[in-house]
Amino acid sequence: MSDKGVLTVISGFSGAGKGTVVKQLLDKYDYGLSISATTRSPREGEQDGREYFFKTKEEFEQMIAEHQLIEYARYVGNYYGTPKEYVVQQLEQGKDVILEIEMQGALHVREILPEVNLIFLTPPSVDVLEQRLRGRGTETEEVIRDRMARAKEECSYMEKYDYIVVNDDLDECVENVHRLIRSLHYKREQQ
Ligand code: 5GP
Repeated sequence: MSDKGVLTVISGFSGAGKGTVVKQLLDKYDYGLSISATTRSPREGEQDGREYFFKTKEEFEQMIAEHQLIEYARYVGNYYGTPKEYVVQQLEQGKDVILEIEMQGALHVREILPEVNLIFLTPPSVDVLEQRLRGRGTETEEVIRDRMARAKEECSYMEKYDYIVVNDDLDECVENVHRLIRSLHYKREQQ
């Protein structure tokens, strides 16, 4: 039986409610969350080292050159990446770790860490997706358009995921994801 933590990637369309689901999972249960680095500007209320490590393009490119990232991707004009050290440390200590990252990055994680479990979170419909993006009130019309376009492209990635979870009712979705991760421990022990 392995004492290592289970690594789970949660992806989904921008506006699928990933951030809220992941926050609730962390509030309610004992998961480790990887904090990503990004070159995008902080949104109102976001803090460096809490939501993200906010980097300049040059700083980010240095992290790439120094192999500090498990994966990175460009998403709507910015870099996003997962620092390696923290994730590996947490898993070794037996903690289950959640990465909330977009799809190209998720598939790269699988190349490096094949035991990763990929969960795709989707809203119940395209209309709900757009409503949620607008309801957030933090994005310009142009960014909303880009993110909706990106969501259409991303549909083709869904089939590469291990599990698809619909985020209709938030509490239910959080419980479903949590139960799924618990079951992955069990599944691994059977192997
Ligand atoms: P946002 O700008 O809305 O915070 O994030 C935009 C997208 O980048 C989301 O789909 C989010 O999951 C993804 N993302 C956040 N961190 C990372 C990361 O470290 N690597 C990759 N590949 N994507 C990330």
